[in-house]
Amino acid sequence: MQEKPYFCPNCRSNRIKFSVITSYAQSFLKDALSGNITEFNDPDAIPEEEPMIQCLVCSFTGNELRFIKQAEREPRMNTPTTPHY
Ligand SMILES: [Zn+2]
Repeated sequence: MQEKPYFCPNCRSNRIKFSVITSYAQSFLKDALSGNITEFNDPDAIPEEEPMIQCLVCSFTGNELRFIKQAEREPRMNTPTTPHY
């Protein structure tokens, strides 16, 4: 995952709350006759070049790059309140 700002391209209201969706492979052994699982091994994360990110506001899921690109298109202003003159 990259240390860059995210911005949800779907709801366009969330820059803060996300989930990363990771795939795991967990090997196990089965008894050939009964079908019972006899051994479960520890899960191994499957490395992915570009992680899937889910917006926790609207549940949209997409590649990390889509969130980064949206943040680059619409960067957060440094001053959240606009001064009135
Ligand atoms: Zn969203």
